[in-house]
Amino acid sequence: MVTKRGKVLRTEGIKLPEGNIAVPGNEDRNKYLGIPQANGNHKEAASKAATTKYLHRVRQVLRSQLNGRNKIQAINTNALSVIRDPAGTISWSKEEIEATDIKMKTLLTMHGELHPKSSTLRLYAKRKEGSRMRQSTATSLAHQKDDYTERPLNMFCVVFSPDGAAALIIKSTWLQPETQYLVINLKSKLRQGQKYQLYTEFTGELADDLSGFYRSEYEEDGLQKIVATSQMHPTYARKTFPCFDEPALKAIFHITLIHPPGTVALSNGMERGQLSWTKTKFEPTKKMSTYLLAIIVSDYTYISTTQKDPQIRIWARRKAIDLGQGNYALNVTGPILDFFQSYYNIAYPLTKSDQIALPDFYYGAMENWGLVTYRETNLLYDPETSSSRNKEKTATIIAHELAHMWFGNLVTLRWWNEVWLNEGFASYVAYLGADHAEPTWNVRDLIVLDEIHKVFPVDALTSSHPLSSNEDSIVLPNQISEQFDVISYSKVQKLQHRTIITNFGLFSFFLQTYLNHFGYSNTVGNDLWHHLQMAVKDNNGSLPHPVDRIMSPWVLQMGFPVVTINTAIGKVSQKHFLLDADSNVTVKSPYNYEWLIPIRWMRDGMVQKDIWWLMEKEVINFEMRSDGFWVLANINVTGYYRVNYDLGNWERLFTQLNTDHKVIPVINRAQLVDDAFSLARAQLLSTSLALRTTSYLSKETEYMPWQSALNNLDYYYLMLDRTDVYQPMQDYIKKQVTPLFLYFKNMTSDWSSVPVQHTDQYNQENAIRMACRSGVPECNSLTTTWFNKWMEEPQQNMIHPNLRSVVYCSAIAAGDKAEWEFGWSQFKIASVANEANKLMFALACTNNTELLNRYLSYTLNSTIIRKQDATSVITAVASNRAGQKLAWDFVREHWEYMFTEYGVGSFSFASMITGVTARFSTPAELQELKEFVEAHSATGFGSATLAVDQALERTRMNIKWLQTNKQEILNWFNSQKGDQMQ
Ligand SMILES: [Zn+2]
Repeated sequence: MVTKRGKVLRTEGIKLPEGNIAVPGNEDRNKYLGIPQANGNHKEAASKAATTKYLHRVRQVLRSQLNGRNKIQAINTNALSVIRDPAGTISWSKEEIEATDIKMKTLLTMHGELHPKSSTLRLYAKRKEGSRMRQSTATSLAHQKDDYTERPLNMFCVVFSPDGAAALIIKSTWLQPETQYLVINLKSKLRQGQKYQLYTEFTGELADDLSGFYRSEYEEDGLQKIVATSQMHPTYARKTFPCFDEPALKAIFHITLIHPPGTVALSNGMERGQLSWTKTKFEPTKKMSTYLLAIIVSDYTYISTTQKDPQIRIWARRKAIDLGQGNYALNVTGPILDFFQSYYNIAYPLTKSDQIALPDFYYGAMENWGLVTYRETNLLYDPETSSSRNKEKTATIIAHELAHMWFGNLVTLRWWNEVWLNEGFASYVAYLGADHAEPTWNVRDLIVLDEIHKVFPVDALTSSHPLSSNEDSIVLPNQISEQFDVISYSKVQKLQHRTIITNFGLFSFFLQTYLNHFGYSNTVGNDLWHHLQMAVKDNNGSLPHPVDRIMSPWVLQMGFPVVTINTAIGKVSQKHFLLDADSNVTVKSPYNYEWLIPIRWMRDGMVQKDIWWLMEKEVINFEMRSDGFWVLANINVTGYYRVNYDLGNWERLFTQLNTDHKVIPVINRAQLVDDAFSLARAQLLSTSLALRTTSYLSKETEYMPWQSALNNLDYYYLMLDRTDVYQPMQDYIKKQVTPLFLYFKNMTSDWSSVPVQHTDQYNQENAIRMACRSGVPECNSLTTTWFNKWMEEPQQNMIHPNLRSVVYCSAIAAGDKAEWEFGWSQFKIASVANEANKLMFALACTNNTELLNRYLSYTLNSTIIRKQDATSVITAVASNRAGQKLAWDFVREHWEYMFTEYGVGSFSFASMITGVTARFSTPAELQELKEFVEAHSATGFGSATLAVDQALERTRMNIKWLQTNKQEILNWFNSQKGDQMQ
């Protein structure tokens, strides 16, 4: 999966309440329905025929309830496959699951009608699963989330033993809200080794809540249209139907969808033909986890390749397909799938590969096996209006999701405590797939900027977490959601196994044995290291330690080291890197926060041949003792650590940068900047020294070092743009960026052409953004002229797609109401999601507070701003200097609404909290934040719980940072005035 922003953080230590929380059972319901076998007083078990009669009656009652809009009715039969815990307590032990012989088969039939304006929207489901019991028990557990059902007739269930005639007597059923278990308490014991089925019926709402089976709407040719679509991952299959909703409980799904004529039904398997005008049956799925299930009914159309094995189809709104917006996705999917098939040396396991663009979707994309869902902006590409950044995103996200077809879907994590097993590898392999599809882009190099620089700051806090945690510590759905954070996605990219793998050329070899061995089942981290060790052995490789010994410290303890090289004496040491020098690590680590670190390094421009392993806390390496030469470690940032040097070596590196920076590899130029700024934050270097890494930028034209510097200066803007440092800082940046602005003006013949290189296109955007932001007059007149021309002729937008984000933003910031209203009108009529997205963010750039307030108020109405975008708009307003306070006030004022709509299970909720508090750096702001936290401590903060804690921690750090550094920074910027070079 790809999260929207990739910024979810995690809570630890939530304890389950002891004992059961009783929810009224269904005795009353059954009495009302007249169902004797569900009444505990009844002595005789009902016969199969009687059961059928009752079921018929239940259906009639349920149908009569269907009189509202967007109601679901479902009939669902599945097997009791996991039975344990006779006492009926709420914990499931993973060992018991592993020990249970589970053979599940699922039959699911759903019936639905979709009429946005009418009062019917009905669905029926039938579901069956089969398995054998390992132990005798009187209680059964399945997952269910109660919002899809309605009380009091929300659900009815019967337990069958297919081998016998009788249905079993149900004493009571209840829901455990915290764990979302449906507990069925039976009168008699289930017998070990016996097969059972659970049959359920329920009604519910097909809501627009973006999870489970939900409703998405859009307008086409003046008609309001509905897509009934699904998002099961990670814990929403249970919101669609009661089921055994854990990744290790894989099943084969036989799905049939009954839907209105004229609509298309899609699911994981290929359609086996329409059985009648409304009924589509699908081929059975492979054995897979519930979270990978997908069911979609829509009015969509598709384009496909002629290739049959597998057939590739791209689905979207009819208009989007007609305009060719799915073509790029179709063109790259084939090459990417081919690449993975040969790279993994395992054929794509399914007969078809569907990818579909949805108008409403919380996440970036989701890897449902055979039916991958995307946000429109991530799948659709329009050459007329989309930028190369959009194109890269489309290619890399498709590659990420397709990588999952093997890594994640074929072989699945056993439990959510090791999300990195699915996500980390998919994220890494995605770059290889995208690189294969677009070889001129060098996307592999961008891993450092796009992944590592994002994960480093989070992993350098004491509130970080190891990649793997104890299975039992992740139990509740909220805790599961919080696992999908930047650590799980990005950290694994640079773990040292890559050094091992790439050195021996083992990666592909290792993946093949691993995927073959564990196909259609589940794994834990140790399985990975075991297979890697075998690959090393088979290839006669040699390592200083066994693979699991090398890897465990990187996976089982949080954080990463800073390696310090004192070139005066050749001393090399390591230390747990913490951004806040005063913080204390309270979590003990069995590895004592030490790591086995492979170091690739260079001396005076010469890369040293052998990798050198730092295996102790401190050691002397005479080769790194430098007599007037500079030393540079972590070449091309293949290792997951930061590097610091003695001051003499830093000076020699500065001299090299200022005389001939190209001697230092471009990735390391970016890294020197990022390391220095972070080391300064951690008080291991002076802030002035960090700032000096930007001095040579007036001669730098490459994207990566610039982007790295701008990422770091962003923090300076956040902390200082409301202080007296602002102007001197603007003057300095203006001085540094002007040559870059002119470089691109020249390269593009006065902005009339597009740079050839992919990363040059990115850096051209940076040049214009920073030049306009720091007040280069030529820049502002350029963007305003372009925007005004567009306003004069709205049908003719001549602004190049690559530059639209930055031009819209700076023109709206420089303009006033007229520019904003024009942008708003274009946003409303934009038919391409990417174009709408650019305008959406640009509208937050205005300096007019009245407009900003109006814009914020729009987020309360999902017909104006889509629910999936509301928190992004609020965050965007908060990132504007003029909007920061407005956004904070707005969130506080509408907290109840925010929390109800987005508080549970939404990734973007946490990033909104992070966004609105990002600038907090005064004692007054800390006080406001504390009061806010206190006022809402009773209800809590849902999926933003950790984000709130971190906001407090970060505000305290910011206050301290400003007090310590402000004067030094002011002095340094002042010293840069004129032509003085540092
Ligand atoms: Zn993923």
